[in-house]
Amino acid sequence: MGVIPAEAHMAAAMLPTGKDEPSLTRSVMRYAKHRICGHPDVPPLHDAKCRGCGWTAPQGNAGTVDLECMKHTGLSGHTQFERAATWVAFVVREE
Ligand SMILES: [Zn+2]
Repeated sequence: MGVIPAEAHMAAAMLPTGKDEPSLTRSVMRYAKHRICGHPDVPPLHDAKCRGCGWTAPQGNAGTVDLECMKHTGLSGHTQFERAATWVAFVVREE
């Protein structure tokens, strides 16, 4: 595979129109506004992991995971948790 000379590259962008003079290929870019949002029917799932011993809370909503962490603190004295939340998001086109 070699380098395409500039003249050959320019010629590849020309399309026959059936007329005597050639025309250039033209691309039209269109943009549409989009937004991303959380799925209204799929609640987020929350996780927690104790930084002291690795204990993990059962997945659930934010409130139940908060309670599990506080119970763990009461039983162990560990006070730091890594928290994460996962949710389904989707992109919609705004008209
Ligand atoms: Zn712990």
